[in-house]
Amino acid sequence: MKLHTLEAWSLRDLIRDGSVTSTDIVESFLDQIRARDAEIGAYITVCGEQALEAAKHSDERRREGRTLSDWDGIPAAIKDNISVKGVANTCGSHMLAQYHAPYDAHVVSLLKQAGMPILGKTNMDEFAMGSSTEFSALKTTRNPWDRQKVPGGSSGGSAAAVASHQAPWALGSDTGGSVREPAAFCGLVGIKPTYGRVSRRGLVAFASSLDQIGMLTHSVRDGAALLQLLAGHDELDSTSVRREVPSYESVLGAGASGLRVGLLGGASQQGLQPEIHEALEQAACFLADQGAEIQEHAFPLLDKAIETYYLVATAEASSNLARYDGVRYGLRVEGSDTGEMFRRTRSEGFGPEVKRRIMLGTYALSAGYYEAYYRKAQQVRTMIRDGFLELFEKVDVLLGPTTAASAFGFGEKPDPLQMYLTDIYTVPANLAGLPAIHVPVGLDHGGLPIGLQITASPFAETNALRSAAVLETFARNRGWNR
Ligand code: GLN
Repeated sequence: MKLHTLEAWSLRDLIRDGSVTSTDIVESFLDQIRARDAEIGAYITVCGEQALEAAKHSDERRREGRTLSDWDGIPAAIKDNISVKGVANTCGSHMLAQYHAPYDAHVVSLLKQAGMPILGKTNMDEFAMGSSTEFSALKTTRNPWDRQKVPGGSSGGSAAAVASHQAPWALGSDTGGSVREPAAFCGLVGIKPTYGRVSRRGLVAFASSLDQIGMLTHSVRDGAALLQLLAGHDELDSTSVRREVPSYESVLGAGASGLRVGLLGGASQQGLQPEIHEALEQAACFLADQGAEIQEHAFPLLDKAIETYYLVATAEASSNLARYDGVRYGLRVEGSDTGEMFRRTRSEGFGPEVKRRIMLGTYALSAGYYEAYYRKAQQVRTMIRDGFLELFEKVDVLLGPTTAASAFGFGEKPDPLQMYLTDIYTVPANLAGLPAIHVPVGLDHGGLPIGLQITASPFAETNALRSAAVLETFARNRGWNR
């Protein structure tokens, strides 16, 4: 049996029956990494020895009847901006290429406490800025469905690792779509939880009011399980919320009966790839057949989403990235005085996209422009959030596209603005702090995955997961098979 092709849930059942050990599972993934990753490029660091050691301990615990959780012994991959103690945490940048994390991110401690081995750290756009992983300063990651296409980004390494069966599931971060867009390009389920649902301690900050850790999995059931493990308050992250975590698994079979679904339609669908448009309409019919009430609504202020996001995100990034000054973290390039040392370190350490964002953000925050740009963007952001909250008085979830098209080719978006526009359907959930899930529903004419996005009101992950599970049935009925 090819263990590495199974979803996490099936691995869990096998390990529980005693038919396989954690060591068998971890070895199967490490073999697959050796066989595939030279070609795919998903991992920056593979933690083979540590993962096998953790698997051995898990097997011992199981033999002695003292397992730590249901997931004891099931491994995971982690995006390279989420700290794993003692392991390189490069953020896809020369700036941090030699930096090792001094502590575990809260989510990583939770995985370890559950007994889960860490397979390695995955490639990403530098400091999570990008939509294709082409902005990684360290390596190229290819889409396992078509190696001439990008895997999406910025969590492209995590998506490619799961899609090529080099990890059963993976963590990513989503500031403007970086979990959902690569999930869409690689045919996976991608979950961005509500802002505040999952602790971000140990996630390297990009845009602090937007950043959220999310999960990339083969199925909604796996995604729900991983969210269950990671959701909850962390007293060391002041943005994490003290609020009860419901049972996510128990809503998965609830079906669509009585669910109020807002179909995000109208003008916003003009640029959609025809197959995505068609899937969206068919999905709405399917949900209606299953007893959902479908209402048509417009995407709140969709035409303002990209400029609002790119002002807020760059402003916060320029401030967050000020800490890379050659003194405290990572790279230092010496100069004749401190000023020159700063200049050289930052000039050589950051790649062009990161520099562009620091400059844009610094400009937007500078005296005389703050009111016109950052303040204005925050006001529009509030309007976008209010627009969504008003919709959620009428509907339980919104159904719409995640991306306008399937994966694009390397070098196909040389103009930064074109790259930014790929995020049009994903940034609204971050601006409004909402949970959103990408669900794959089929392949396009070129054999590339396409899918749809479900968005719910703050902390209503249960509604989003319940609907996502129905969409998964829809996908299976139309022949989707990962
Ligand atoms: N593609 C978006 C950006 O470049 C989102 C990135 C992210 O979610 N980290 O900012």
